[in-house]
Amino acid sequence: MKFDESQRGIGMTSERTRERLIDRLKEQGIKSGIVLDQIKKVPRHIFVDEALSSRAYEDTALPIGHGQTISQPYIVARMTEVLLNHVNGNKILEIGTGCGYQTAVLSPLFKKIYSVERINPLLVKTKKRLRSLGIYNVNYRHDDGWNGWEKYGPYDGIIVSAAAPQVPEKLLQQLEIGGILIMPFGEKEKQELVIVYRDGDTFDYKRLGAVSFVPLVKGKK
Ligand code: SAH
Repeated sequence: MKFDESQRGIGMTSERTRERLIDRLKEQGIKSGIVLDQIKKVPRHIFVDEALSSRAYEDTALPIGHGQTISQPYIVARMTEVLLNHVNGNKILEIGTGCGYQTAVLSPLFKKIYSVERINPLLVKTKKRLRSLGIYNVNYRHDDGWNGWEKYGPYDGIIVSAAAPQVPEKLLQQLEIGGILIMPFGEKEKQELVIVYRDGDTFDYKRLGAVSFVPLVKGKK
């Protein structure tokens, strides 16, 4: 990853500010050194509007336009850690590219990432941003993530950054045997992060606790 662009607003994103975020994530139970290192390296201030740069290293979600948010660093770290610990292969499907922060954190950890976003203007900006950071192992698609991305499946891991009342059936079909899917289930204030393990044609679920995501909306625009 290149960080030329990351020099923007560098005063607000000092080493110490980032260290504080890492300390907080450790306190909350993130253990993987690889994940913590990635969170430290990825310039989160590049993913939010300049007016919000000074808040980029707080452990909170922030608006990114189109009614969407950049995920909270703790959630990005937690979901990345789950994928790292459970995925044996190298092919990841991501639903809800958004501003691309989660994608950037995942990119050096897996060989290939397939990322689907339903809001095209957001996706266009994100592709440009990730390329400016030297991230090239991502394939992007403007589509409704409820359909997954059949062409390149099955996937060793699937990560969904928006909440749905149930797992989209097509995502289960596109999950490799032995693979895992991680996503928030539920509606509005009642959501829970869940891991789905595929063992043959059976699926096991493990609940990881309460979370708050934007909804997985049907259709694209
Ligand atoms: N991964 C982002 C989080 C983005 S917020 C990050 O790192 O910050 C969730 C994203 O999911 C939004 O961009 C939203 O437009 C997208 N989304 C919601 N429903 C979707 C769907 N059905 N298909 C694809 N993307 C969807």
